[in-house]
Amino acid sequence: METTLRGVGVSHGVAIGEVRHMGTAVLEPPAKQIPAEEAEREQQRARQAVEAVAADLTARGNLAGGEAQAVLEAQALMAQDPELMADVDRRIAVGSSAERAVYDAFAAYRELLANAGEYLAGRVADLDDVRNRIVARLLGVPMPGVPDSDQPYVLVARDLAPADTALLDPTLVLGFVTEEGGPTSHSAILARALGVPAVVALPGAGEIAEGTLIAVDGSSGEIFVNPTEERRAALEAAAAERKAALAAATGPGATADGHKVPLLANIGGPADVPAAVEAGAEGVGLFRTEFLFLDDSKNAPSEEKQVEAYRQVLEAFPEGRVVVRVLDAGADKPLEFLTPGDEPNPALGVRGLRTLLDHPEVLRTQLTALAKAAEGLPVHLEVMAPMVADRADAKAFADACREAGLRAKYGAMVEIPSAALRARSVLQEVEFLSLGTNDLAQYTFAADRQVGAVSRLQDPWQPALLDLVALSAEAARAEGKSCGVCGEAASDPLLACVLTGLGVTSLSMGAASIPYVRASLAKFTLAQCERAAAAARAADSAEEARNAAQAVLSGE
Ligand code: PEP
Ligand code: MG
Repeated sequence: METTLRGVGVSHGVAIGEVRHMGTAVLEPPAKQIPAEEAEREQQRARQAVEAVAADLTARGNLAGGEAQAVLEAQALMAQDPELMADVDRRIAVGSSAERAVYDAFAAYRELLANAGEYLAGRVADLDDVRNRIVARLLGVPMPGVPDSDQPYVLVARDLAPADTALLDPTLVLGFVTEEGGPTSHSAILARALGVPAVVALPGAGEIAEGTLIAVDGSSGEIFVNPTEERRAALEAAAAERKAALAAATGPGATADGHKVPLLANIGGPADVPAAVEAGAEGVGLFRTEFLFLDDSKNAPSEEKQVEAYRQVLEAFPEGRVVVRVLDAGADKPLEFLTPGDEPNPALGVRGLRTLLDHPEVLRTQLTALAKAAEGLPVHLEVMAPMVADRADAKAFADACREAGLRAKYGAMVEIPSAALRARSVLQEVEFLSLGTNDLAQYTFAADRQVGAVSRLQDPWQPALLDLVALSAEAARAEGKSCGVCGEAASDPLLACVLTGLGVTSLSMGAASIPYVRASLAKFTLAQCERAAAAARAADSAEEARNAAQAVLSGE
């Protein structure tokens, strides 16, 4: 009998196939005592396993490239953390086996991280994955992770570690479903980068029996367990229709009546550029530069290294816009040498622009590197600061840009409700706004973006979030300036029309979403988008807002 489950759709498309579960977690190794004379050999065994796992993660990263590579390299570094290794050695010296010492040392470290603040939820999953890989190697059992199968399947997991999502083979993995994770978690961002349909935050997914036929609708967030013939036919027909619409829509982003909405790409570095160009991105709307900083936990990358990375991106869009976000360290992206380790609540602490104002030399190097990279290129370089709270923040950033002699437009990201509420004041100092709806939702609803249990509040259709978008867009229009969206909200084809109706002037998203958004915008006029936006804002919940917009746009 068919049953329907509902999670959060995070990556478009329909997948129909049999369920394969993620390799189960490694069992707890027995706490046996080893004789003192074996300690040295055990320590060596532990070290070899750690090195092999780190090398494997790095190799997976090299294969995957882009944002996935940065995440995997961060995991490889985690595996080799000197303090963690010292703890493993100590435990072996007092009688633990290598596998037990690794297991216990990681458990202690995990607790430390978990108690350091909620923002570490995502990092804890990465840490567990590293531990499981090392312990599995030491025990000589198969690695936990993506199942071995030569038949296409739908992957079901509690949560997906970056190491797994990075290597998912889109020809075998038809789609994936996870119990945890929210719409803005790493797994969701990586799924979209891969172009695999995905649904997250689906409680009970783990209980669907291996081999069961399911249909995943990555747009609506619905899962149909044992779908009927009619259901499958309807989903397949809708998917085929969407594919045809995608193929038909090409060129710059615009509504049916020609109102232009540039479609830009979110990238993590030069490796993401080819996919952006292929998807027809009109430029880059968000270059997340922090991925350049993940290679070395102790130092910022040199000016030369930064110039090279920036130049590669700028050269790829000779006539287009490239919006570079200066380093956004802290909270879910801590950097050892910049982020205070003792904050009770890092998402509300020193992060984003606050970090840079405390470390002006890091900001200066970045801005100087950008100025050098843009020299002699016709590109329209724009630079923006993350986590701007008010006019003083915006001024401090604009001053730093001027001092570095940067010939670019300076902008502020709107990620904190105060910046949206006082957008006109912020705009006295900068030339454009870019709405980071992931963090804007997090701070508007006091809902940690890493926590699956509060994903309802991370839904970008929440009318309160739409109100803040409208306020920002209206302020920019009044000041004759632009206001784009670069958070994940921009990648939802229906919401993209609503954002356009709210007055947003450009949309930036992962490359895989661009064709969907382009096709959706091309179907409606600006006036229809405005009516859908008004209907969505008049609603009282995210679901009502989505339904109301849908009703307006489908002419119901
Ligand atoms: C956002 O917060 O919406 C955003 C674009 O920045 P990030 O996801 O990198 O925090
Ligand atoms: Mg952000």
